[in-house]
Amino acid sequence: MSKQSLTLVGLGPMGSAMAEAYLARGYEVTVWNRTASKAEPLVAKGAVLAPTVADALAAHELVLLSLTDHQAMYAVLGQATEALKGRTVVNLSSDTPAKSREAADWVNGHGAAYLTGGVTVPPHRIAGPGALTFYSGPREVLEEHRATLEVISAADHRGEDQGLAALFYQLQLDIFWTSLFSWLHAVAVAKANGISAADILPYASGTLASMPDFLGFYTPRLDEGNFAGDVERLSMGLASIEHVVETGLDSGVDSSLPTAVLELLRRGFDAGRAEDSATSIVELLKQASA
Ligand code: NDP
Repeated sequence: MSKQSLTLVGLGPMGSAMAEAYLARGYEVTVWNRTASKAEPLVAKGAVLAPTVADALAAHELVLLSLTDHQAMYAVLGQATEALKGRTVVNLSSDTPAKSREAADWVNGHGAAYLTGGVTVPPHRIAGPGALTFYSGPREVLEEHRATLEVISAADHRGEDQGLAALFYQLQLDIFWTSLFSWLHAVAVAKANGISAADILPYASGTLASMPDFLGFYTPRLDEGNFAGDVERLSMGLASIEHVVETGLDSGVDSSLPTAVLELLRRGFDAGRAEDSATSIVELLKQASA
């Protein structure tokens, strides 16, 4: 069986972008999707549409999944579990570390090798510069298919534990969603004051671009447990975010997002951290989850 071939299950925006990338590089690509019509543009470019999930799994040894979540994986692969034997399933669908471990056990139980994947770029950046996917699971499985997987993005093996790729992926989304919504909140406040999103774009971009400096400065301190208030103090952070919330409320804007930050800083203050760095909130967050 040729290594230049694969099956791709799931043709949302992400799976379709991946199929396009493989077809553009001359790979033999078999596809399957619940809504078969989504395969039409790919079939026009040379993909083979499998009539059933079993046919899709039978077509090639390497099977990439690009589904909404792992529940969708069970719904799809559950239709043809006998066809999993001897396959390598690379699940590039988002879900939690715990569900990734369960999915790996389930697929392994049906006689197939398994890798968890977490794609860190949107569909339009697939196969482009800077595209990166986290993988976890058996390293030898990744190495065997590295050349094929690196068509869509660089491959970063995070460890043998199947949950790790999902964990690294979720950590990035943790940052992504709250950062994006902080910007949307700022845009809402700007608009309530007659200022457009375009007006604040250079300043918003500058603020976000300054973040790596903060991360670089605080990362060694966080790893050492050093929460010294020599650069900024939590009490200053508390006063500052109070002004952010008040500005939002004075503008008639829902300010629940900065209020969540305000409440955390207040709890840090009440816990006696006023003179420490605001980053000491990490300790409070860890305690809450324990
Ligand atoms: P979508 O949710 O748009 O589509 C995923 C696919 O899942 C579709 O083919 C859909 O089939 C299928 N599906 C969903 N539920 C079921 C089910 N119960 N049974 C059968 N098939 C099902 O996702 P995307 O294509 O945008 O993304 C795919 C994965 O990649 C997701 O896990 C996403 O989190 C991740 N990702 C996406 C990014 C993005 O920007 N889009 C960025 C990074 C990661 P149908 O067409 O029939 O509805």
